[in-house]
Amino acid sequence: MEYQIALIRGDGIGPEIVDSAVRVLGKVGEKYGHTFRCTPYLAGGCAIDETGVPLPEETVAACKAADSVLLGAVGGPKWDQNPAGLRPEKALLGLRAAMGLYTNLRPAKLYPALAGDCPLRPDIVANGFDMVIVRELTGGIYFGERGRREGKYGPEAYDTEAYSVMEVERIARVAFETARKRRRHVTSIDKANVLETSRLWRETVHRVAADYPDVTCTDMLVDNAAMQLVRNPAQFDVVVTSNMFGDILSDEASQITGSIGMLPSSSLGDGTRGLYEPIHGSAPDIAGQDKANPIATILSAAMMLRYSFSLGEEAAAIEAAVDRVLNAGWRTSDIAGEGAAAIGCTAMTDKIIGEL
Ligand code: NAD
Repeated sequence: MEYQIALIRGDGIGPEIVDSAVRVLGKVGEKYGHTFRCTPYLAGGCAIDETGVPLPEETVAACKAADSVLLGAVGGPKWDQNPAGLRPEKALLGLRAAMGLYTNLRPAKLYPALAGDCPLRPDIVANGFDMVIVRELTGGIYFGERGRREGKYGPEAYDTEAYSVMEVERIARVAFETARKRRRHVTSIDKANVLETSRLWRETVHRVAADYPDVTCTDMLVDNAAMQLVRNPAQFDVVVTSNMFGDILSDEASQITGSIGMLPSSSLGDGTRGLYEPIHGSAPDIAGQDKANPIATILSAAMMLRYSFSLGEEAAAIEAAVDRVLNAGWRTSDIAGEGAAAIGCTAMTDKIIGEL
């Protein structure tokens, strides 16, 4: 098969880590008989420098025409003082909106080989953990009506949370379908003891759950979920939640893995096209020094194979290669620990390709 991939290499370490993932895709293509045609487009700070805008029209059109999009990271101190419309992050929001991406999938997995980096007590993570947080991305309080007004106690501000049955239903289906490819358990997180939107969320999730009798589903209040993530993270398989709760909980989940350079993510809409990117930023402090950990971006490419191209075996081969490299003791500096020897971005990529 042949697949068209639009690449957004972006800023800082973006080009190094995206090029690493492209090399890994090249190896997978060679081994399994696929062609991944990867074409770079501008977005972020580099696009501002070259074209005057963070997200050129050409990039939007190319991403919408491609089979999928792989993104490194955008931003850096050079553009920090730019006015709001001319900031690199504008490219990310613009791209998500233009591509109609309403689901964010963020796996948070503790690699046994990296258990020492986990900030939780060893007995809590003795059996590791491996969850995916499915976050609704285009609705809820971040997109609701907001403003300032004169209130009971003088000037006040307000934000509104609204969710339609359709929005909850489609994200719930993504969660149940994801669970079917994993350990078949969904935890739906809400605040149904207080919020009307959460009550609608819960009712709708239960209705969708009836279509998935092979997947178990439990509800959890968000305050309890924040506790359970640090108390017993192994209980979670697929977590589904609203935009704001997902924003907060997915950061908590990534923090407890202890290694930001390891975590991939994907954003999906209807259909199979998605936007795949590491969860970390452009790490300007180490850009251009061959020090970046390419694993989050390589695992993002693996997610692309699994979720956009239904190439589960190829995705698993990449993930297994990463596991073997880590188990063999190879580390980039971010995961090497105090005083331990580390290899660079290129060498880490070579090791993973070697294991493939
Ligand atoms: P960051 O994630 O870029 O860096 C935080 C720390 O983690 C730094 O010390 C960095 O060196 C390290 N780090 C991050 N990724 C690494 C990797 N792959 N390998 C080794 N070390 C890694 O976050 P920040 O410093 O807050 O932000 C830097 C820039 O990135 C800012 O301009 C910010 O706006 C942007 N940003 C972009 C995205 C995105 O493109 N999706 C996300 C977050 C931040």
